[in-house]
Amino acid sequence: MPPVALAVVVGCVVCQIGIVCTTIYLHRSVAHRAVTYTPTVRMAFRVLTWLTTGIRPRQWAAVHRRHHAYTDVEGDPHSPILLGFWKVQLANAALYRRCARDGETVQRYAKDLPPDRLDRVLFDHAFVGLGLGIGILVVGLGWEGALIAAAVHTVTYLLLNGAINAIGHTFGSQRYDNTARNNQWLAFLTAGEGLHNNHHAAPTAARLAHVRGELDPGWWIIRLLARRRLATVRLATPKVQHAPVASAWAGTAADP
Ligand SMILES: [Zn+2]
Ligand SMILES: [Zn+2]
Repeated sequence: MPPVALAVVVGCVVCQIGIVCTTIYLHRSVAHRAVTYTPTVRMAFRVLTWLTTGIRPRQWAAVHRRHHAYTDVEGDPHSPILLGFWKVQLANAALYRRCARDGETVQRYAKDLPPDRLDRVLFDHAFVGLGLGIGILVVGLGWEGALIAAAVHTVTYLLLNGAINAIGHTFGSQRYDNTARNNQWLAFLTAGEGLHNNHHAAPTAARLAHVRGELDPGWWIIRLLARRRLATVRLATPKVQHAPVASAWAGTAADP
């Protein structure tokens, strides 16, 4: 494979590692406690999240919990209905940062997630993690390849996370009566997060696919870990809080 093509492929793979960490660790585990992992698996996710995104889990969880508390109404940190589609699609990271550092959101929504010693000495230092991540790419691909891979990863990761919040609250189908939307194509690219209407209806569910035909790749990984006793899923079936939309296909239960 030509070096540039290899670097692009590596960038996409690193992006997907970051996406998987974001959905099945930061989102479904830290923010919603829908699934818990053994200490070893949790540490692996902490390290991978740090290396690929530099995100502080308690900040991410706080901003996201605020999004659930004020979905598409005043107070939502990244609502395309309030802020416009393109602002959320393209500037999602800036909106996230502003909310994470507002001095109130983390204190209010992440009381249960105090920083531990490892956070203070290691994981709270985003640039150390990202620098190490790039260092690993340099060892494998050389400077040029590493910069291409890091650029591909950064752009695709930011755009996909923007899409979950922007497309996921603007375009797509609605199974339940809330303002979020389902997009299966986006779910394939985001390890399941595109099934966002389902998620808002049942935020404590580890599985985002609710009916047969909906596919949630993140759930496949959780199911694999659970079968190996490396993960514990809180609810066997999603606890749906919103009424189904009348026109939505009733469907049948998804494969567990
Ligand atoms: Zn949402
Ligand atoms: Zn959520």
